[in-house]
Amino acid sequence: MDEFSSGSSGQDSPPQPSSGRDFSRIERLLLDQRDQILKEAGRVVGIGVANVAGLTPDPTDMATREEHEAFSLRLKEREKNLLRKIDLAIERIKEGDFGICEECGEPIEEKRLMARPVTTLCIDCKTLQEIQENAKRPS
Ligand SMILES: [Zn+2]
Repeated sequence: MDEFSSGSSGQDSPPQPSSGRDFSRIERLLLDQRDQILKEAGRVVGIGVANVAGLTPDPTDMATREEHEAFSLRLKEREKNLLRKIDLAIERIKEGDFGICEECGEPIEEKRLMARPVTTLCIDCKTLQEIQENAKRPS
């Protein structure tokens, strides 16, 4: 027993991001989404998700490593892209620049972020981009 531990231990409030916005819910959403993609792909290949996620790392098990590589190859391009976006979004949450439009630097609406957490554009810039893409399309 630690006889010094009976003192004050009421410091459990999580550190707030400098922007003042709390994205922990969205981060969870992203992690869930990521988990789902990995699970889905893992089921296709028929290997344990635990191995894929590195929850039970075993450096001596080369077979697991090879399975992991095969697994990565099995991921469709689309899923790989999404995974990269999810990782990027989680990274941005950690660094505190999540939820900021890449184009105009304005904060992105939380409603939009909840619906599409991997987005990096606010609704105005996204709409503009779509209009421009449509205009480029030959008719
Ligand atoms: Zn914008």
